[in-house]
Amino acid sequence: MSNFSRRTILAAAATTFFAARALPAFAATPYAFKHGAFELTVISDGHLVLPVSFLAPDAPPAEREVLLKAADQTGTQFNSPTNVTLIRTANDLILIDMGSGDRFMPTAGKLWDNLKAAGIDKSKITKVIFTHGHPDHLWGAVDELDELVLPDATFFVAGVEWDFWKGDNATLGLPAERAGFVTGARRNYAAIKDKVKIVKAGDEFVTGLRVIDTPGHTQGHVSLELSGGDGLIVGGDALTHPLISFQQPEWKPTADHVPDQAAATRRKLLDRLAADRSKLIGFHLPYPGVGIVERKDSAYRFVAAT
Ligand SMILES: [Zn+2]
Repeated sequence: MSNFSRRTILAAAATTFFAARALPAFAATPYAFKHGAFELTVISDGHLVLPVSFLAPDAPPAEREVLLKAADQTGTQFNSPTNVTLIRTANDLILIDMGSGDRFMPTAGKLWDNLKAAGIDKSKITKVIFTHGHPDHLWGAVDELDELVLPDATFFVAGVEWDFWKGDNATLGLPAERAGFVTGARRNYAAIKDKVKIVKAGDEFVTGLRVIDTPGHTQGHVSLELSGGDGLIVGGDALTHPLISFQQPEWKPTADHVPDQAAATRRKLLDRLAADRSKLIGFHLPYPGVGIVERKDSAYRFVAAT
């Protein structure tokens, strides 16, 4: 085989791999749809590369293996998509979470590039709400000089989460290798502190957009509920894996701070989503992470929107 044709094949293979794994992160036309009075767009922040061992280490190995195989996660690492939701109302452009920024993983922090590629001017964003204070949701708030990326926006943070990351218990609640999460959360919270509004479950911080309590992944993790139709919940990291979170909601991923509470939250949220047939947007579900939840046997399944 000549060098040329070999190179062509390699390039084609690389392109196919790229298309399958990473295209949503760079797609110029992101997934967009209308819900009631809202226009939603899901923008990829890229993806995280995480150890497969983080996925339910407590699960019975044989059952775990079946689900990992079904998810095509048989290696030691997997790619976890990161889907940021942008909501347009009559008066506001609202971002739910801000991605990883440039200090977490080289495969993430693509939000601003992808917004630009989609023709969205980030300076028009008026409000930001954070589901929780983990790096992939919060660290995009500042640039490499620790300055606000969106200096004119108002930021909304759940009070329990704000207090947790600033308090002494933050370092006690995390394994040592993740102590950097606390430093990063405090750095970003310090940057937004003059522009932050503290919210709690039940607060309708924009008409038709309400904060709901979904604790456990972190102490103060919240989701957002949008009125209209059968409802829509932007679920942050309450449901992170397209198979495990739905079929085995009691299994405990390493990333959850309060594992029993996170499992109870998953059950409750899944129950509600399946009963109401509300849409779900999951931050780490396969891009765009939009779908509905159905009951399946004694558990649930995620049905992605087509
Ligand atoms: Zn996350």
